[in-house]
Amino acid sequence: MKKNGKNIDNRNMHFNNAAHRHSARRRKNKRTRLIIFSVLALILAALLIAYGIRSAANSSDTETTTTETVETTTQEQPADDETITQDPTDNESDEISDTQETTETEPEDASDPEETTEEATEETTATDETAAQAPPSDESPVIALTFDDGPAVDGEDQLTERLLDILAEENVSATFFVLGSQIDAGREATLLRTYQEGHEVANHSYSHVIFTETDEQRIRDELTRTNELIENITGQRPRLMRPPTGAYNTLVKDISRELDLAIVNWSWQSTPQDWNYHDNPEPILEHVLEHAANGHIVLLHDTNRATLEIMPSMIAGLKEKGFRFMTVSELLSYLDDDHPEAGAVYTHFAPPIE
Ligand SMILES: [Zn+2]
Repeated sequence: MKKNGKNIDNRNMHFNNAAHRHSARRRKNKRTRLIIFSVLALILAALLIAYGIRSAANSSDTETTTTETVETTTQEQPADDETITQDPTDNESDEISDTQETTETEPEDASDPEETTEEATEETTATDETAAQAPPSDESPVIALTFDDGPAVDGEDQLTERLLDILAEENVSATFFVLGSQIDAGREATLLRTYQEGHEVANHSYSHVIFTETDEQRIRDELTRTNELIENITGQRPRLMRPPTGAYNTLVKDISRELDLAIVNWSWQSTPQDWNYHDNPEPILEHVLEHAANGHIVLLHDTNRATLEIMPSMIAGLKEKGFRFMTVSELLSYLDDDHPEAGAVYTHFAPPIE
């Protein structure tokens, strides 16, 4: 490349001097050959790299290896561009633009490896899941984070979307007890994203009416309406519900059983009462890190800005203590195949309290 650049400089210096035109032409021809040669070399290199990526992916190597190879491909790209920008006015530019087309087809080639990268990522995730499938125990503790009252926004602040970004970044699955009224406020896309990113979507009523203070018809309507909203958007019917404020009675249990919903409240020990801390997130973090134990179901709110603020530190702190993260249904499924059971009430990783 440098040699080409130098040639260009030389030629430019002598461009108006007729005596040098002949030798300039010769240099130009030489340069043409050089360019063609380097372009061919680059194509060969690109092919080798593409082949290397396939081999790496086929050998079901780790994500890291594949990414590194893709990076190499990306680094290769500017080198081609350099060649092209150095000769913008030349006759060869035709030839080069041909080559450019060839070069441009390479990213298409590279899209293959990209797909392969995705496959590799899926494989890696599958491996993670296999590791996560060890039963919850004090030696390998599990915690289920739950977020109530969303999908939430606060003015322009897309609270739930921000939380989803954090969870994705940390590769953490959680459970969202959503309100039908919040979905109907134009947040269908957030609900769908929640589901698509591997979180559990569960029912928290339509309007947050307290079930023990209303009548049978209203309870059934609130649960049914939100169930249908969730199923219409995600294609998946919820298996869990959490009554607003956690209040339930025999009637609530009967209706839940009828609608095929298990009732999930929370582990009071590790729940930080984040609704008391809107401006000061520290107590939320400290409470969870101090009291978290294997199998706990932690109640949090994605409506609370302070909770979101502290989430990266909370996740990091829990990971440091050795916790794995699961959705509630995943956690309870380790009890045995009958769980979560419709109409039963759970507060942590243990058979229903009633
Ligand atoms: Zn609530």
